[in-house]
Amino acid sequence: MSYLAPAGTPVSLATYVRSLSLGLRRNSGDNLARALATHAGHTQGWLFSTGRAAMVVALQALKDASNDSRRNEVIVAGYTCYSVPASVLRAGLKPRLCDIDTRTLSLDLGALKQFDLTKVLAIVSANLYGLPNALHDIEAIARESGVALLDDAAQALGAKVGQRPVGGFGAVGLYSFDKGKNITSLEGGALVASDPLLTAVLQRRWESLGAGTTVRSVQNVVKLAAYSALLHPPLYGLVQKLPFLGLGLTRYEDDYPLHRYPPVLSGFARVLFERLPELMSIRRRNALALREALRPASSIAPIDLLDGAEPSYTRLPVLVQTTARRTQLITDLNRHGIGATASYPAALCDVPELLPHIEPADRATEGAREVARRIMTLPVHPFCPPGYAERIAAICTSSQR
Ligand SMILES: *Cc1c(COP(=O)(O)O)cnc(C)c1O
Repeated sequence: MSYLAPAGTPVSLATYVRSLSLGLRRNSGDNLARALATHAGHTQGWLFSTGRAAMVVALQALKDASNDSRRNEVIVAGYTCYSVPASVLRAGLKPRLCDIDTRTLSLDLGALKQFDLTKVLAIVSANLYGLPNALHDIEAIARESGVALLDDAAQALGAKVGQRPVGGFGAVGLYSFDKGKNITSLEGGALVASDPLLTAVLQRRWESLGAGTTVRSVQNVVKLAAYSALLHPPLYGLVQKLPFLGLGLTRYEDDYPLHRYPPVLSGFARVLFERLPELMSIRRRNALALREALRPASSIAPIDLLDGAEPSYTRLPVLVQTTARRTQLITDLNRHGIGATASYPAALCDVPELLPHIEPADRATEGAREVARRIMTLPVHPFCPPGYAERIAAICTSSQR
């Protein structure tokens, strides 16, 4: 059966060939790093094996560059990718969980102001699904208290708020090229920054990393060929059930390698980055059509966009009235070949592996819990066929009670 993957980026054969030949050229990685830095309005960029490796290095570098040894806490959104708190711990720092606003999914500004910011090294934004957080406000709070903002745009490359690119706020920005992000080379991450002291430390730390193995690079190049074929809805229907692919699973993982990005992969990210405006306009158009079509679905509420936000939509998130209703909708939609998901299964305060590291004060972020119970994501990628928004809406209203 034909199946729409939850998220993805089409890589045609022509794109594949062009990407590979670009990746094999000298300086291919440097060009990508520079292009991302320019995009974010920063002066320098560095590429890493993954976004989580980039995050560990960013946090270590912020710690090195800080002259205040009391600052060892990192504030993260109570509902975000599990690798964010894992990276904080990996960097030898202490994760603090800030609740989120259920209407916008942004860090809750009221909750953020409650923290004793004199002990905080960095605040990490989330910008989930390509929806910008309240970045101007978060940046102002960070600046006033001498805290660094790490603008996590792993899911938000191309998004803007008030004309400024997401990933370009604060001291350092982060991008990811993992599966299901705005552009992909299956693995990869980037940092962008400008401050002279910080960039010197980042450069030193980046140079001291290993290059990763050739075997892994070759594996990824082969897997990319498979990925580009399998994302096609007829094939995705066949493979989505293969357990060794681990599609759609969220696991807490903290033993990932810290390497530089293999230059051969950079061609893929580079070519897709050039196509980002086109990819984004398709995702936006699909997201708008879905939002519009879902209006009559009484058990589904949209996420509000903040003023001036131009999202880049890796997927369209919505909130479903109850968990039971969400389970029913996801089952129905999947039965009809639509990759609806419940996103991350839990708020960070309820992730067992993290619990020993979480302060009692942070163990009940109720907004994050509510989002974890109610969120559903819908595909908006370029493989979504005409009329799919109406089909989804029909499924979501036909079983309405
Ligand atoms: C994916 C993601 C990361 C980590 O990126 P990887 O490249 O998968 O390691 C960090 N933060 C957020 C919000 C993410 O979605």
